[in-house]
Amino acid sequence: MSVQVKCLKCKKRVFDLMSKTIGGIEIKCPHCGTVVGYDFNNNQIIGKEK
Ligand SMILES: [Zn+2]
Repeated sequence: MSVQVKCLKCKKRVFDLMSKTIGGIEIKCPHCGTVVGYDFNNNQIIGKEK
């Protein structure tokens, strides 16, 4: 099962995260261009705007 990760700014779907991922990623939203960093810890997703 995957979790939809949404942009902090425009709230649109940025990508789907596969479960049990641990670590972090930095991704540019394809909708509004905001670069958001996400930290993953089990099923918790913590996003912060860069
Ligand atoms: Zn966005």
